[in-house]
Amino acid sequence: MAITFDDLPYASEGSGISTKAAIDAQHRIVHTLRQAHVPATGFANEDKVVALGPVGPRLLAEWNKGLLALGNHGYSHFDSNDLNTESIEREVVRGEATIRPMAASVGRAIPFFRFPYNHIGDTEAKRAAIEKFLADHGYTLAASTIDTSDYFFNNAYERAFAKRDKAMMRRIKHAYLDHSRIQIAYYGELVRKVIGREVPAIMLLHANRLNSATIGQLLALFRSAGYGFVSLTEAQRDPAYSTPVAATKFGPMWAYRWARARHVKVDGRLEQEPPTWIGAYASGTP
Ligand SMILES: [Zn+2]
Repeated sequence: MAITFDDLPYASEGSGISTKAAIDAQHRIVHTLRQAHVPATGFANEDKVVALGPVGPRLLAEWNKGLLALGNHGYSHFDSNDLNTESIEREVVRGEATIRPMAASVGRAIPFFRFPYNHIGDTEAKRAAIEKFLADHGYTLAASTIDTSDYFFNNAYERAFAKRDKAMMRRIKHAYLDHSRIQIAYYGELVRKVIGREVPAIMLLHANRLNSATIGQLLALFRSAGYGFVSLTEAQRDPAYSTPVAATKFGPMWAYRWARARHVKVDGRLEQEPPTWIGAYASGTP
């Protein structure tokens, strides 16, 4: 599988980014990946880089060497459903301000763009226009095949952290890892059903506090599910990723898009939802 992290340098909800939290989380994620020799791609939002001042580029530089690579996730965390094609293209180009020259300084390109929410175009005309300008700017659209709703668990984890509730933090971590185990198996099976064989998986994660606290356990989960690790470039070399996918205003994982393209019947309702108490705790209404 290929590991990807979105919302670099640091995914945080609400007002401002805590510099210390961003540095700590980045350090743990990057250090763990490096120690385990696991390749990964980190997709950055330029506005989050700017918000961290000089720390922003310093954190991204860690993703510009060895087995780690940078990707573009837009200037802001925009929703392409709400923007016209010109504005989306502007988001893509402004998203390169730090990462493009940084990559070029070590002879690298930025081969992948990933849309926030995986919204790749809500009408066929828009999707096709996006596909064309991404190619013009040298991008391949980054896919993802496994989603564990990590942002959802992270909202609860952030609340427990703010309340210094260590027991709750542990409980959330366990629930997250349990749910991840189920989702990894579910999406692996879904891809086999739709494509009829194994396809390199692409793991969608966010650069947040919860993943920084669980990255070692997540890698162990992937390994025990039988996965080894490859780069995103290597994973997307599989011909399954060349399947033309249709416009949609939603952001499903790629097996659902492939199922539609190949007229394979799948039932998304079989997919397990995260426990409801996680959402209730995160919103403060337990
Ligand atoms: Zn994102």
